[in-house]
Amino acid sequence: MARSVLVTGGNRGIGLAVARRLAADGDAVTVTSRSGDPVQGLAVVPCDVRDATSVDEAFSAVETAQGPVEVLVSNAGVTKDQLLALMSEDDFSYVLDTNLAGAYRTAKRAVRGMMRQRRGRLIFISSVVGLYGSGGQANYAASKAGLVGFARSLARELGSRNITSNVIAPGFVESDMTAVLSQERRKEIIGAVPLGRFAAAEEIAGVVSFLASDAAAYMTGAVIPVDGGLGMGH
Ligand code: NDP
Repeated sequence: MARSVLVTGGNRGIGLAVARRLAADGDAVTVTSRSGDPVQGLAVVPCDVRDATSVDEAFSAVETAQGPVEVLVSNAGVTKDQLLALMSEDDFSYVLDTNLAGAYRTAKRAVRGMMRQRRGRLIFISSVVGLYGSGGQANYAASKAGLVGFARSLARELGSRNITSNVIAPGFVESDMTAVLSQERRKEIIGAVPLGRFAAAEEIAGVVSFLASDAAAYMTGAVIPVDGGLGMGH
């Protein structure tokens, strides 16, 4: 039977590849975007993860359309890179509020229905830099490291309800987020990645599909690197 899936930030980039993959797997998939603009072949609800009311309204719409969310892919994320000495309070809190508190708001709302159904999959898109660190990205790395403690706490809290909570830590992936990197920085990164290239968003989507599947029923609290080897040992 089709599961009810919600992918935050599923209108482009990694989230869109994830949504398309899960739809191809046979799930009923809705994506969020801030604009609510149509996305070909997928249901869309407007949602800003910085706003609990907006998150609640998005979930209510999904529940009406396709039933309570059984698989949440918490993917919405932003960067505002700056060296610490120049990083403003606003740059720090905007990234934490979106990437970490946004995951808290969506997971909290999702878990309500999952507890009732006594099943659920929470999948958080973190980043290799959460554990590896990244100069000029202290806000982003902190938000992504925070997701690990958050997800693992939920794994412990919710395991008895048959709800799993896992993290995927992608390396560098071709998307709008990395399109802003200079050619020089790209070269540096590729030089440090054992597989010698950026990932395609579909390569992250494949691992999300696995975590959402029956094959991953006994996995919870895992942090799965999908980074071409960049973060090995971290
Ligand atoms: P994109 O910049 O291509 O897409 C970001 C997505 O997040 C968009 O759908 C955007 O929606 C959504 N979003 C941003 N802010 C909010 C908000 N306040 N409320 C709701 N949605 C929001 O990024 P990627 O696809 O590359 O990244 C997706 C995730 O993967 C992020 O969490 C990112 O940190 C992570 N990641 C990316 C890597 C990469 O190399 N690309 C590497 C490791 C992790 P909208 O269109 O409305 O702005």
